[in-house]
Amino acid sequence: MLKNLIEIENVSFSYEEEGEPAVKNVSLSIPKGAFYAVLGQNGSGKSTLAKLMNGLYKPSSGTVKVYGMDTADDDKTWEIRQRAGMVFQNPDNQLVATVVKDDVAFGLENIGVPTEDMPARIEQALRDVGMQEFADRSPHHLSGGQKQRVAIAGALAMQSDIIIFDEATAMLDPRGRQEVFSVVQQLNRNRGLTVVWITHYMEEAALADRVFVMHRGEVVLEGTPSEVFSHADILKKCKLRQPPVTEIAENLREKGFDISSGVLTAEDMVREVKRLCASSWKK
Ligand code: ADP
Ligand code: MG
Repeated sequence: MLKNLIEIENVSFSYEEEGEPAVKNVSLSIPKGAFYAVLGQNGSGKSTLAKLMNGLYKPSSGTVKVYGMDTADDDKTWEIRQRAGMVFQNPDNQLVATVVKDDVAFGLENIGVPTEDMPARIEQALRDVGMQEFADRSPHHLSGGQKQRVAIAGALAMQSDIIIFDEATAMLDPRGRQEVFSVVQQLNRNRGLTVVWITHYMEEAALADRVFVMHRGEVVLEGTPSEVFSHADILKKCKLRQPPVTEIAENLREKGFDISSGVLTAEDMVREVKRLCASSWKK
């Protein structure tokens, strides 16, 4: 049984032969069932890395393997794209059909799914993202969050076991962001979907199993969210910040409040504040 669905070994990629590489000496592995985040400012190489992960780009040097298949091998292109789905930033660029269910069906013909098997796959995929009621509607009237959920259903219908999300919530309002993020979290937890979540929202990365920070094409920091977000200095160099609640917690601690390190989410903060209140009442 293959443990790592994606294995990237010492990969560099340049858009132009002479130019500075957009991705430089990156090595990383994505195990089955993981929810990994990739963080980095604009231009740090995240989208280039994403496209290397499912063979849309081939490395200038090094190797990328998806399910053990080398993305440099042209014979494997379709299988790799089917195994590793992608959801992009702009919801409007991904939906092509006039009816939601046709959009979900779009990739299935390409991979040779028999016509009679399609309806069941489409229905299940739409149900998995909570969009089954919209199957016969036009995608154009959906909210951004709903469009992204339809795009996710497209990958699920292809039976992708890994989906790479390239800033899939960046164009959504807070409600849409929350809606898409929680659908992806549930697919990861309940269905074992492997997730690569590219983002510039610290609070989303804080919820991942592991975080990779990119800067000028390189992975400069890697670890659990609490390890990564404890490096305020490195993050600052990468023009990133800690999640807002982590900053608040650290400021309070510097002012002498007894708050534990490693506050990453609003829930962590609530827990710490409750603990503080309880201990001050005891005094
Ligand atoms: P991010 O997704 O983190 O914003 P990208 O992977 O899009 O970063 O870009 C990394 C670097 O590659 C940037 O310097 C960017 O200008 C350059 N780049 C991205 N796409 C292209 C392209 N199609 N042609 C030439 N250079 C590109
Ligand atoms: Mg990008």
